[in-house]
Amino acid sequence: MSNALLPELGTLPLTPAPTRIWTPKRVQVTRAAAELPHTAEILRRCEAAGVTDIMMLTNDRLSGLRGETERETYARAKTTLAVVVAPPSQLKPQPIPPSADWRIDLAKGCPAHCQYCYLAGSLGGPPVTRVYANLDEVLAPIRTHAGRGTITTGTDLRGHEGTTFELSCYTDPLGIEHVTGSLTEAVRRVGAGAYGDDVALRFTTKFDDVTELLTLDHQRRTRVRFSVNAPEVARRFDGGTAPLTARLTALRALALAGYPVGLTIAPVMAYPGWQQGYGALLDQVTTAVAGVPDLDLTAEIITHRFTPASKDVLLGWYPQTKLEMDEDVRTQKRSKFGGVKYVYPRATMAEMRQWFTSELAARLPAAPLLYWT
Ligand code: SF4
Repeated sequence: MSNALLPELGTLPLTPAPTRIWTPKRVQVTRAAAELPHTAEILRRCEAAGVTDIMMLTNDRLSGLRGETERETYARAKTTLAVVVAPPSQLKPQPIPPSADWRIDLAKGCPAHCQYCYLAGSLGGPPVTRVYANLDEVLAPIRTHAGRGTITTGTDLRGHEGTTFELSCYTDPLGIEHVTGSLTEAVRRVGAGAYGDDVALRFTTKFDDVTELLTLDHQRRTRVRFSVNAPEVARRFDGGTAPLTARLTALRALALAGYPVGLTIAPVMAYPGWQQGYGALLDQVTTAVAGVPDLDLTAEIITHRFTPASKDVLLGWYPQTKLEMDEDVRTQKRSKFGGVKYVYPRATMAEMRQWFTSELAARLPAAPLLYWT
């Protein structure tokens, strides 16, 4: 087992110091959001983080996001936090297979810079992070949808999770938590049973500032998954996130604090030597979870894919990227709504799936694979 990239187990801190904290350069608050109670908490956090450029807008349109070039627009958007009100259409939970029964969005957008970002192509306009100020309304469906759903609710495999709500479809909720407080509030309320006893939250992150989460009475009702990859893939393509080793240190700290935890191994890439790279990753995870009492660890695996729209957006954001997005070496798949995506060919997928299934079982036998896609 290789643990060269992790500190000795005995020296791993129970409350690790975060390595990556995002602080926006500017904050814009829409008029509709200004008077909501959660906005006061967001502004309190932003001010405590040292943000001085806070603009209270006189209407609900964000302003000044566009720069002279696409590069400037990208840079401005990625350093801006917008405090907005989620419209009614966003408040209706959507099914989110294979992760969870329902999707709930605390925010849309993410300040990190991953060159394969799965948000590319699904969010329109400059990639600004919009946090929702109407938090009570955002979270209310946890109560109305408890006991409903087809992914975990009432299923043989995952029924013990209760009705599940995925928080990280359109953002990295931990990455912006330091200046929003939305995640802490959601975990605290669900832990306190505010929406019933048989509901659970789940989210995935590439950040590592878990200090606040460690203090919460979570009642094991929130599963924190860390999005991880082969070390060389994470180093090369994940920008503005916590390093892989820091994510695993945070995972260990949360597991020791009783949280159910998980791995989102994504996006898995079929590059030369991928078996060694992902083997090194699994070894590091094994080291990180060694000796954790009552460990509840799951794995989810998502292979790399792209769409014509996401490729277009990503090449605009990262024109120098070395990320392989070559339609000629991929297989085209059509969704039931007619959309096109490019995935690895069937034989590559089968080989990778077989490898991951058997290596996970051998190296992390306690971690069930919830899905492969
Ligand atoms: S952390 Fe996730 S959402 Fe944020 S840039 Fe990276 S892939 Fe995109």
